[in-house]
Amino acid sequence: MINVEHLSKTFGKQEVLHDISTTIESGEVVAVIGPSGSGKSTFLRCLNLLEVPTSGRITINGADITDKKTDITKVRQGIGMVFQHFHLFPHMTVIENLAFAPVKVKGLTAEEARSKGKVLLERVGLRDKADAYPSKLSGGQKQRVAIARSLAMDPDIMLFDEPTSALDPEMVKEVLAVIRDLASTGMTMLIVTHEMNFAREAADTIYFLDGGRLVEKAEPERFFTRPQHERAARFLEKVL
Ligand code: ADP
Ligand code: MG
Repeated sequence: MINVEHLSKTFGKQEVLHDISTTIESGEVVAVIGPSGSGKSTFLRCLNLLEVPTSGRITINGADITDKKTDITKVRQGIGMVFQHFHLFPHMTVIENLAFAPVKVKGLTAEEARSKGKVLLERVGLRDKADAYPSKLSGGQKQRVAIARSLAMDPDIMLFDEPTSALDPEMVKEVLAVIRDLASTGMTMLIVTHEMNFAREAADTIYFLDGGRLVEKAEPERFFTRPQHERAARFLEKVL
């Protein structure tokens, strides 16, 4: 579903991603881990061209997104992205947040978009918050709304960049539960996370990035018990 070939990204003189090649299958759940500054966010952002690769090729569902002729707006519509900070529209209610893009971009009627939004709110456990404004929600609730809002566009791929890092500890679980539930539906997902237990349980594959390199790519069980690379072992010693 996602094919990355020799992806490199430089900012000025700094090479932030170095020659990354990998393939992500449909339905695969990838947890991207690594030290701060290792290029995790940049890697994710390259996958929907929020950052433009300096070199290399990325194809998504067969479309080469690094080819200027590709309609990137269309490709992006199939990719949901959830950030550490929720970026909800503050002046809209929860249900308005969910209905906005489907009406604007997908051409749903307001009625269709609202009823679809309600189904998604149910799914993330927030049916009773449809008419609330974001400012009235906890961080965990905001993040669940942000996830539901992404899902309202019917993405094939979901990208999560540290979705729980800005949350108080007691709210981390409820958000991870929603993401885990989504993983079990066969959604293709990449999740940058520092939640090692979650990565171990929910992911099919662990990507360990260090210094812009995809140093190790492994099944969780093997990665967490027998990391192959010294840098990965050192990282795990610190975080586990
Ligand atoms: P991570 O998400 O693993 O913490 P990032 O992908 O955010 O790492 O950043 C990797 C490196 O790239 C860091 O050294 C960061 O300072 C640099 N970087 C990220 N975005 C930019 C940018 N827009 N301009 C310049 N440097 C950047
Ligand atoms: Mg980051």
